[in-house]
Amino acid sequence: MQIPDSAPFSEEQRTALNRILPSISPSQLTWLTGFVAGLQAALQQPGLAPASALEQSVMPAPAALPSLPGTAATQSSLAIVYGSESGNAEGLAQQARKEAGKRGFKATVIDMADRSVAALAKEKNLMVITSTWGDGDPPDNAVALHAAIMAPSAPSFAGVSYAVCGLGDTSYDKFCQTGKDFDRRLEELGAERFFDRVDCDTDYDAPFAKWLDGALGELQKRSSGGATVAAVPAVASAAVASGYGKKNPFPAPLKEKILLSGRGSEKEVWHHEFLLEGSGMSYEPGDSLAIVPANRMEDVDALLAAGNFQGTSVTVEGSSCDLATALRVHFDCTTLTKNVASKYNEIAKSGKLTQLLADSEACRNYLYGRQVVDLLADFPVKGLSAADFLGLLRRLPPRLYSIASSLRAHPDEVHLTVAAVRYQSHGRERVGVASTYLADRVLAGATVPVYITPNKNFKLPADRDTPIIMIGPGTGVAPFRAFLQERQAVGATGRNWLFFGDQRYTLDFLYQVEWQEYLKDGLLTRLDVAFSRDQKHKIYVQNRMEERAAELWRWLEEGAFVYVCGDANRMAGDVHETLIRIAETCGGKPRAEAESYIEGLRQTKRYLRDVY
Ligand code: NAP
Repeated sequence: MQIPDSAPFSEEQRTALNRILPSISPSQLTWLTGFVAGLQAALQQPGLAPASALEQSVMPAPAALPSLPGTAATQSSLAIVYGSESGNAEGLAQQARKEAGKRGFKATVIDMADRSVAALAKEKNLMVITSTWGDGDPPDNAVALHAAIMAPSAPSFAGVSYAVCGLGDTSYDKFCQTGKDFDRRLEELGAERFFDRVDCDTDYDAPFAKWLDGALGELQKRSSGGATVAAVPAVASAAVASGYGKKNPFPAPLKEKILLSGRGSEKEVWHHEFLLEGSGMSYEPGDSLAIVPANRMEDVDALLAAGNFQGTSVTVEGSSCDLATALRVHFDCTTLTKNVASKYNEIAKSGKLTQLLADSEACRNYLYGRQVVDLLADFPVKGLSAADFLGLLRRLPPRLYSIASSLRAHPDEVHLTVAAVRYQSHGRERVGVASTYLADRVLAGATVPVYITPNKNFKLPADRDTPIIMIGPGTGVAPFRAFLQERQAVGATGRNWLFFGDQRYTLDFLYQVEWQEYLKDGLLTRLDVAFSRDQKHKIYVQNRMEERAAELWRWLEEGAFVYVCGDANRMAGDVHETLIRIAETCGGKPRAEAESYIEGLRQTKRYLRDVY
């Protein structure tokens, strides 16, 4: 393969490239692809000169800066507590620790699950970085601390200085609720807010970096008694990681995809296998794979038709591209939130939309099932510029999927179980961006940008003899396929019990043959299935748990770990309630004791959930 004459290189460059490219091995090529992507990302960082970008991409991170002379900050401690479900808040807490270290603080990162409210109240400087889960709930590792700090018995926080960073998703009503709760409650308990809270949407890097820079700057000022402190470098703006990650996803070739749902099923669940060869990426069972998707061309076309925009050339991250590409690749051009509608109305100045936005319930009803295209169609603006329109939208977020394979069983591969989301609403056909990107637009052999997001809160027990109970209806079964492959590969002797549920036995029994093989060879000790639509009344996984309550209780008493994956809205709560009832009926405990028994399992990290 030769570089064509039409490529944007001089003849001399072309000759040099044509000399070297044929001698490059596939793994060297993969490495080079990642390197070039990293270089490109670095060059797009404002203010990062090409030479320094190149250095950053090949050199190890610089050592921490020497502490600042003459500043009290040198000695100040800073506790950074995080509440994290998918690992993002934890990653940011680590980033904050590094940056605080460079500025002379003695910073420690603390998992919320590992700190009591009384111990937290003794800190001097506190940073809280927390995500919000489901309908405004704290992430699992923050549940106990959140409850303790919200309780009337919470201790005084007088003498504590704090700042809060919330992570969330504007498409949920209770955006960043947990961050807001901590922020308000700390103030009520007498702590002093040294820097205003930031509420970050899914593209959190830039607002987080700005917040961290400001918060640490303020803390430095205070620690040095208001004296001018030596200049410090701004927060490293999205430095290029040496490997593949969020800033530099790996282009993973799709090896194979298989439709798991039977013909006639109401579901469309796909099994995807990607190759990681040459990426140097690794993962553990329980981790997730982030997919960087692209929007459907039909959705982009519908927007272009509804918006009738002025101008089609736009600038994204310093490079110009056409509006259609920007919408397809870079922006979340479908999700309609109140925030988007409000910003749009600053341009549209529609009386009707103003009224709608002022009435919470009417607004919620309008937003439900509608997308950005509906807003443009319902409240048209003449002469809306392409750039103004892009200014309303957030960046297209990556989507996380629980990994369905073990590297030990499938070296250099990663498998996913993904239900394609398709539905009709308000007269239009709608789709899930990432699930249909994978189902419809990625063919075997094509590459998909991916990176691993570790989840240390959803791991197999370290002791391989420990029994495990896995509850995973629908695609929630994905991580349990990974768990079983791993337990088999390492020769774990602990017993394994799987509860699986879906609509119909003949159409929706995901990975049926694999479970049956595992039962036959003894890896799976028990398999209980609940097919909800095979009979008149619904049967769910929790009904099967109740039927096996005595045995399930015995397993718990023998030290079993319990894992739940899948729907957070109803299933996770119902399963939780069932566990409490089993502790009541089989453990003979009054309700309050049964609740604290299950809470105890959670606190000792024997009851782990990956739900959304
Ligand atoms: P699903 O919609 O959850 O359905 C699976 C089965 O669960 C069906 O038989 C369904 O019955 C039943 N079900 C409905 N309500 C229930 C309840 N309250 N308690 C127990 N079972 C109940 O399956 P899916 O489409 O595969 O989606 C799984 C869910 O998990 C989605 O919400 C998805 O976002 C989430 N998920 C999370 C992860 C993760 O990585 N954390 C991975 C995959 C999926 P009926 O429909 O007949 O009522």
